[in-house]
Amino acid sequence: SIRFTGEVLHDVQSDYQRVRILESYKYGKMLALDDMVMTTENDEFHYHEMISHPAVFIHGNVRNVLVIGGGDGGTIRELLRHSKIDQITLVEIDQEVIVACKKHLPSIASEFNHSKLKLIIDDGIDYVRKAKSSSFDLVVVDGSDPVGPAEGLFTKEFYKNCNRILCDRGILVAQGESPKFNENAFIELNTTLRDIFGDKNAPVSLFYVPSYPTGMWSFQYGFKKKSDIKVPEKKEQISSFVNHHNLKYYNYEVHCASFALPNFIKKQLDLS
Ligand code: SAM
Repeated sequence: SIRFTGEVLHDVQSDYQRVRILESYKYGKMLALDDMVMTTENDEFHYHEMISHPAVFIHGNVRNVLVIGGGDGGTIRELLRHSKIDQITLVEIDQEVIVACKKHLPSIASEFNHSKLKLIIDDGIDYVRKAKSSSFDLVVVDGSDPVGPAEGLFTKEFYKNCNRILCDRGILVAQGESPKFNENAFIELNTTLRDIFGDKNAPVSLFYVPSYPTGMWSFQYGFKKKSDIKVPEKKEQISSFVNHHNLKYYNYEVHCASFALPNFIKKQLDLS
């Protein structure tokens, strides 16, 4: 739990969820959707650096990106650090989240006016269903927990469409829930992605985010083509990128280590 001061800076019931910005003692301002902590000023970079950078370096030539969800703006802020990216399409279902974050979390919602951003307010499930095949090099599912509007972001149909709209060497990365909290959602998502992308093309990475329940969280991947997750030839490139952008979480060693799973998780996912 996080002790919040009792100060409520923003509180709106949208068509989809209750959108609040709360003040906390140690984590700064935080976004809560239907009482679930989504992101905080203090540790948002753990999540946003780790959902963005590993996939871009593994792919090596990301130009066209689709982000589903991500209404706080942290993921697009990190992706836009990669100058080779030509366009990011962000499909967020709830305009109220963007309004709240632009007003109260400007360090996270800092790039909504960027020329490379195409912002669409829509249901990401419908959007991927209608999107053209082979359209994106990277699809990022930066969704909330599998309740309310985000429930459909955990279905096989949704990820089959994500697979369809990826280009030949495309990569999917999804907010993957936790091996220690709501374990069924974590395991079911991995089963879904392995069924669609293949057992060897659906790795799981772990990272730490203190403001989430248990602090241990995951991103789950789908590779259209088998890819080398360790990218040793990019070690120097990653290090200079990290220094240039003064990143506070991601680096080459963390990139590699994030894909190493403890034995109990290998067992959970029935991995050898
Ligand atoms: N970046 C956040 C973090 O650091 O944890 C992750 C949560 S982000 C705020 C989740 C976003 O997904 C919310 O803004 C929510 O409105 C959006 N969302 C949920 N279901 C959606 C759907 N079906 N289509 C598009 N966006 C959706």
